Amino acid sequence: MSYKREDFDRIKTEFENKRVNAIADAEARTADIHKKYPEIKAIDDKLRATSINIMSEAMKGKDGLEERIKALEEDNLALQEERKTLLQKYGLPADCTDIKYQCPDCSDTGYKGLKMCHCFKAELAKCALNSSGLGNLLKEQSFETFNLMYYKDNKQNFENMKAALERSNNYAQCFSKNSGNLMLLGPTGLGKTHISTSIAKVVIENGFDVVYDSAQNIFSDFGKEEFKNQNGLTDKYFNCDLLIIDDLGSEMHTPFSVSCLYNLINTRLNSNKSIIINTNYNSDELRKLYTDRITSRLFGFFDIILFAGKDIRMQKLQIR
Ligand SMILES: [Zn+2]
Repeated sequence: MSYKREDFDRIKTEFENKRVNAIADAEARTADIHKKYPEIKAIDDKLRATSINIMSEAMKGKDGLEERIKALEEDNLALQEERKTLLQKYGLPADCTDIKYQCPDCSDTGYKGLKMCHCFKAELAKCALNSSGLGNLLKEQSFETFNLMYYKDNKQNFENMKAALERSNNYAQCFSKNSGNLMLLGPTGLGKTHISTSIAKVVIENGFDVVYDSAQNIFSDFGKEEFKNQNGLTDKYFNCDLLIIDDLGSEMHTPFSVSCLYNLINTRLNSNKSIIINTNYNSDELRKLYTDRITSRLFGFFDIILFAGKDIRMQKLQIR
């Protein structure tokens, strides 16, 4: 997962604070209850002394130690029962003095043993989502908000889109470092960006490093690196687990951009790193736009998902 060191540190501090607050909150609740119900305090004081009592019994010698400890344990159980009855009597919940962590799995430490807890990973994923390049698209676009209704006036298109949605969802849910490549092909306004954003979201949430950008921005970065010496600007396009190139064909067409595209696709294919490409061009147009070297890779190594139907943006305008 791609996240910045400062994000990690910030989340770590937030977790420490959460934990300290949860403990302080429980202490305050307990102090309140002790003040109102001194008999509960008396029991809690005795319960707290149990471990000290066990130690002092142990120091008295081995003779009859087992029985003495057993007696202490029985006392302890009896006190716990008595406490339970008192809480019930005063109408207090059984857990009224417990520490209430936001994540019971890791007690808000963010870790289960040496492994990062799911709650900590989810916080890091939020940061990764913010730095993925998806920005505002994430707010509206997900598999849940993809509406097949817009394809319903043509049965074939509807069935195609239903299958495309399922296939994309599977791709996202099962994404691993060797998941292959997708090309979303079809005219503008049919949900290609929506589908690729939805894939990105799920893949990021599953802990992978995703970079999403338009072809225009990507090749502009290649240009800056080459001609303005801004080193390292394009590293992320080569290194991320999943690269999503939106709107291929919209970039400025130069021999330089074409050779960058070839290099990018080829390098990623050779290292089994996945790519998703969206384009408004059909296969013949792509063949005209790019060299055979590129199109043979696009059509040989990418699963193609075809989008057909009526422009959703236009349909939305008509509904309004
Ligand atoms: Zn947790």
